[in-house]
Amino acid sequence: MAERTIPIADQRHAAAVPAIPAVLQPPSGLLADRLGRPLRDLRISVTDRCNFRCSYCMPKEIFDGSYPFLPHASLLSFEEITRLARLFVAHGVRKIRLTGGEPLLRKNLETLIAMLAELRTPDGEPLDLTLTTNATLLAKKARALKDAGLQRVTVSLDALDDAVFRAMNDVDFPVAGVLDGIDAAMRVGLGPVKVNMVVKRGTNDGEIVPMARFFRDHYDGRVVLRFIEFMDVGNTNGWRMDHVLPSAQVLERIDRVFPLEPVEPNYTGETAERWRYRDGRGEIGLISSVTQAFCRDCNRARLSTEGKLYLCLFATRGHDLRALLRSGASDAQIAGAIGLIWADRDDRYSELRSAGQAPLASGERKVEMHYIGG
Ligand code: SAM
Ligand code: SF4
Ligand code: SF4
Repeated sequence: MAERTIPIADQRHAAAVPAIPAVLQPPSGLLADRLGRPLRDLRISVTDRCNFRCSYCMPKEIFDGSYPFLPHASLLSFEEITRLARLFVAHGVRKIRLTGGEPLLRKNLETLIAMLAELRTPDGEPLDLTLTTNATLLAKKARALKDAGLQRVTVSLDALDDAVFRAMNDVDFPVAGVLDGIDAAMRVGLGPVKVNMVVKRGTNDGEIVPMARFFRDHYDGRVVLRFIEFMDVGNTNGWRMDHVLPSAQVLERIDRVFPLEPVEPNYTGETAERWRYRDGRGEIGLISSVTQAFCRDCNRARLSTEGKLYLCLFATRGHDLRALLRSGASDAQIAGAIGLIWADRDDRYSELRSAGQAPLASGERKVEMHYIGG
């Protein structure tokens, strides 16, 4: 258990106030980083709080009653989030995912969704607007989210076996509550629903085939189940390589029971490798963040609950956009600052680790997952 008791440094202050360029150019939508990668996908964490204590994300021993969650005044307001989102869209972002912590815990989230749903890309297209949730509050909120303009949801569910799931969320929440949320989302048209299962060897790998079977047999193949390799995000989840079950083995185990064939990706930079059942009963995704790095096409930026921009899931420092917002900077100045930050990006943590190189300098500590979202 010693691995669980590492004290965490407060990463929330490791951020610099971004520089504003001397000459301000309007965003062209064609921004590229140092490795030529565009900016297309923005994940916004709307709260650092959660009603689950998944051991791989917010272990109870650390995220207990004494953990200093952010005070309300530190959070970006809906107006601030929307203002930044508009500037990111001008720079080329087409997809916004709300996350957390548990995003449905943020009060009046529908109001934010309605504000974001009004944004348009430079070509006049609406954004791909989505949300990742543990689904505890989804049955209650699905209708309001849909009416506000949310297009679809991704639900996290790590097991169908109640005892396994209750132990993994560590707050004794039952599987049935999550399935109710998925049903409600399907009913109101928040589909196609994706379901994410983080696979931890020795904890829930026995659930791979039962989960595949369940989502094939229900919902007419309209729910896409995605298996995520347990990642070494943050500093508190006691990650060890022998807890990772490589996606190749997930594929093998399912293919043995329900034969699969590969499907072309929907777009460049898609994180999940797609496979479909040969009998036509839907598809699955494999997210191999550990064994098959996909940094080369990574077009994602992450905005933390308090307005710090992170360019990689494994970043050690953020860029304090809230400081710019609250200093009275103009839209042109903030857009210019975002452009400079992205143009200087060279993050490729997973790729370096896979190549056997040390991705971080010694003593550097990664940002926590619940703070920047997955
Ligand atoms: N609370 C929401 C939820 O669980 O869906 C949204 C936030 S959660 C941080 C986003 C996603 O990150 C979830 O699908 C979760 O399973 C995944 N995640 C968290 N910690 C992870 C880890 N160590 N490895 C892989 N995925 C992880
Ligand atoms: Fe909460 Fe999601 Fe993290 Fe689980 S994975 S603790 S539900 S934020
Ligand atoms: Fe993107 Fe960083 Fe993940 Fe690589 S490690 S895919 S750069 S978030």
